[in-house]
Amino acid sequence: MEKIKRNFGFGYMRLPMQGEEVDLEQTRKMVDTFLDAGFNYFDTAHGYLQGKSEEAIKTCLSSRYPREAYVLTDKLTMAYFKKQEDIRPFFESQLEICGVDYFDFYLMHSQNAEIFKYFKERRAYETVLELKKEGKIRHFGISFHDRAEVLEQILTEYPQIEVVQIQLNYADFDDPAVQSRKCYEVCRKHDKPVIVMEPVKGGNLVNLPEAAKKVLEDLHGGSVASYAIRFAASLPGILMVLSGMSTLEQMQDNISYMQDFKPLNETELTAIAKVQEIFHSMHLIPCTACRYCTDGCPQQIPIPDYFATLNAKKVTPGWNAASYYNVHALHGGKASDCVKCGACEEVCPQHLPIRELLEQVAAEFEKPKES
Ligand code: SF4
Ligand code: SF4
Repeated sequence: MEKIKRNFGFGYMRLPMQGEEVDLEQTRKMVDTFLDAGFNYFDTAHGYLQGKSEEAIKTCLSSRYPREAYVLTDKLTMAYFKKQEDIRPFFESQLEICGVDYFDFYLMHSQNAEIFKYFKERRAYETVLELKKEGKIRHFGISFHDRAEVLEQILTEYPQIEVVQIQLNYADFDDPAVQSRKCYEVCRKHDKPVIVMEPVKGGNLVNLPEAAKKVLEDLHGGSVASYAIRFAASLPGILMVLSGMSTLEQMQDNISYMQDFKPLNETELTAIAKVQEIFHSMHLIPCTACRYCTDGCPQQIPIPDYFATLNAKKVTPGWNAASYYNVHALHGGKASDCVKCGACEEVCPQHLPIRELLEQVAAEFEKPKES
């Protein structure tokens, strides 16, 4: 990991596009600007931009710079292997597409309880650890989207994991649905360096509610996005903060405060706390996530997780809340599975009309797909 120069990485998943194709000229300029500014970490995956992200690694980076000039992360994604024997050929094809003969980091992509099971059954972790022994991977890790208890299980079963990539941003940090803080704390407990994805929550922390935007603008210390990225980078144990930059302007803005990175100071942290309060004041369901309601639910509905997901969607409408709803639905009943027995409402200290609220959740996240 000593090869990494700075704590800010170029996520190759939202590259500038011209129609269906990557704008290679603009991407080359971004790569040059990034490396010239002293950064060197790049993150891709086979599925990003329908395979065009890996191709653009070769066209814009590996064919133009010596291998030691950059750190490259790629991932093993469930969709690309059906059995253990598929993993090596897929991996080799990734090396070839990217135009490299090793990856600095290789991550088991998007792990959750279900996907982890799939990987385990096909001995994916063992296969990739062999590739590491052969020198084709320098460091082995996971990217993760599930509850903290699942992360705890994976890190306990595979202590060979060296890094963990999680979603982390100030708006979600204490959110019971996303469990950023809890996942971060599990990483700290296991002494695993953290790679942060979605520090600006897919752009949502750029387009803030007006009151929140004003709090940050009144600091006169940088763009609204800068506080989100610096918040993530300021936490202890953060190896890397990724940003999926789409324009040279975004990159230049990011470089302006990450080149000479300074952790958030007290005044800035107080401002972030105010912004978090504004977000919290928008919670429409005052569930405290005490979880008293879940034990007695015959349908095992993760009630507080659904409420937190609906709240998060209301605070930042463009966020991918539906995917978090689906993750929680893997662990229990769907909101529409409620049989209206009322057991939950009897124990809810907040006296929430849970049955009615679950109907709202179902209406929001279980919409029939448009044909
Ligand atoms: S009313 Fe619905 S959510 Fe509440 S305990 Fe019964 S089945 Fe579960
Ligand atoms: S009992 Fe009420 S406040 Fe507690 S988690 Fe359930 S819905 Fe939320």
